[in-house]
Amino acid sequence: MAAIILDGNRISAEIRAEVAAEAKALAAKGLVPGLAAVLVGSNPASKVYVRNKVLACEEVGLYSETITPPDSIATEELLKVVEELNQKEAIDGILVQLPLPKQVDSKKILLAVNPAKDVDGFHPMNVGLLSTVRPGLVPCTPSGCIEILRRSNIKIEGAEAVVVGRSDIVGKPVAMLLTNANATVTICHSKTRDIGAVCRRADILIAAIGKAGFVTPDMVKPGATVIDVGINRVDDRATFERLFAGDAKREKQFAEKGSTLAGDVHPKVAEVAGAMTPVPGGVGPLTIAMLMSNTVKAAVLRRGEKYGVKAQGAGA
Ligand code: NAP
Repeated sequence: MAAIILDGNRISAEIRAEVAAEAKALAAKGLVPGLAAVLVGSNPASKVYVRNKVLACEEVGLYSETITPPDSIATEELLKVVEELNQKEAIDGILVQLPLPKQVDSKKILLAVNPAKDVDGFHPMNVGLLSTVRPGLVPCTPSGCIEILRRSNIKIEGAEAVVVGRSDIVGKPVAMLLTNANATVTICHSKTRDIGAVCRRADILIAAIGKAGFVTPDMVKPGATVIDVGINRVDDRATFERLFAGDAKREKQFAEKGSTLAGDVHPKVAEVAGAMTPVPGGVGPLTIAMLMSNTVKAAVLRRGEKYGVKAQGAGA
């Protein structure tokens, strides 16, 4: 039986509509949530990401601004930019687009962002709030994974969940969110022994590795839900054949563009899994939706009281 495909575009649109409605209600009370994107230099991919984020802000009715320091900026100067945004009342979320130029101390910059405005949820303060189940800002991609599960009626409580990958931005926070939602969680990484056997235990399997098609059908329990976080550009024929042989739509794309995007999960897993996110169109679209959601949450947590608005929810 083929897996149900969990449509990230649909879920993302649903969340954006909810955020837009909330932003409208807040604006009626005089509170307009604001996001500042710091885009250093001229990295073409970063420009596209920031443009998409700013467009998404406009679409849901948030205020946004983009600060564009030059490639040559020094750490101290960039710290001043962040500090100004920390002080600015109209800005609720600060997003420093990575990667930063080599001469800039990225860790120092991220640590300088006021945790109350850290809409990426990477600051150690927010990491601590998440792990102690207190209200805070949660990283966007991990919370997107949880939204997909919840909105697809996949039961998390009591489920055996396996997360492959332990990065600070995806693996660890998604494992923490699953733990907070009462799953029994195992985290795998490059030193895990017999990773296939561990993955096969999973009712919910989350792959965040960065290796195209790493999770193969033999690693998946029949009927399991598989969330594929990976985004990998495939531009060599051998990998393409291993993943997409016989897929006419992909063949056409590969022939035209010379590459295609693949997740960390082999497409054939869809023959074993009960439900699965596609790549593209799965977790990816949730990341920006959750950024918008976090900006509204940050506005309400930081200055809602002044406008007679109460914060809801905790840790997720
Ligand atoms: P990362 O920082 O490179 O971490 C990869 C993790 O995978 C590490 O913990 C690593 O283990 C583990 N790993 C690597 N090779 C392995 C192997 N052979 N067996 C078991 N574990 C292995 O990557 P990331 O930033 O978490 O991103 C993961 C993927 O998600 C990437 O494809 C990235 O592009 C994608 N991503 C997508 C979104 C989105 O919006 N959809 C957002 C962020 C990231 P060690 O710790 O032992 O090295």
